Amino acid sequence: MPLRVLLLGWVLLASAVAAHATDRLTVTWHPLRPKVGDVAWVHVHGVAGGAVIAGSVGDRSLVFFPYEGGQAALVGLDLEAKPGLLGWRIAAHEPGRAPRLAEGSVAVGRRDFAVQRLTLPTGMVDLDPETERRALSETERMQAVYRAVTPERLWRGAFTRPVAGTEPGTGFGSRRVINGKPRSPHTGIDYAAERGTPVVAVNSGRVALLGDFFFPGRLVIVDHGLGLYTLYFHLDTVAVSDDERVERGQTIGTVGSTGRSTGPHLHFGAHMGGARIDPAVLLDLKLRD
Ligand SMILES: [Zn+2]
Repeated sequence: MPLRVLLLGWVLLASAVAAHATDRLTVTWHPLRPKVGDVAWVHVHGVAGGAVIAGSVGDRSLVFFPYEGGQAALVGLDLEAKPGLLGWRIAAHEPGRAPRLAEGSVAVGRRDFAVQRLTLPTGMVDLDPETERRALSETERMQAVYRAVTPERLWRGAFTRPVAGTEPGTGFGSRRVINGKPRSPHTGIDYAAERGTPVVAVNSGRVALLGDFFFPGRLVIVDHGLGLYTLYFHLDTVAVSDDERVERGQTIGTVGSTGRSTGPHLHFGAHMGGARIDPAVLLDLKLRD
């Protein structure tokens, strides 16, 4: 065989191997072993800016955004999610090349939640049918908000505390026993603060819902885009209007004790892709830009 043909053969073989090696998509999880109630994120490395990335974790779809020479997506792990292996799958479709795939499973760690026993006036617990209907329809309105996914990422960089101070918020996930009966878990964290203390948006976004609801009292829900929402409950006053764009650190209201509340405090919650996540983990999220 002439040398020229032999060389050509080697070049073709080498390029075939190289093409095959890049067919796998490189995906990293942050953290590597997330826990129940966490907001984690996946980073897809080395994909073109024009790439369309689709993926899912368990039965939830991921929504990607450009990040550090690739793309990333937040993953919400609901506070009542089952610990154990959770399957994931990601596909990148790039112009002019075959789709690339990556799949695997992530080990979701368990987390033990405290049991919180509360005594409340029976009128706040055993609801009359009309109040029951009201609370239910208010819950449905909030669920409808969380289900909507704004395709644009409105948040940037680090998240800030919703109230000044250094005391951590408490009570995420506590299994509540109210007047001796087990009730739904506590889905946010509570910050003790005096009535009138300013409450700020933890990142930029848009006001998705304002209301004066039976359980949450006066509330603001901020849409940060791509399925991420933050919730501010029991407010005394509200300083924003419906659909208003808000910046990180902007005052959106003041601490109060409206709704089902035993004293002035801020209840702060967060939802990602429909999962109820620990807002303290969101505040610790380390993503650049
Ligand atoms: Zn609370």
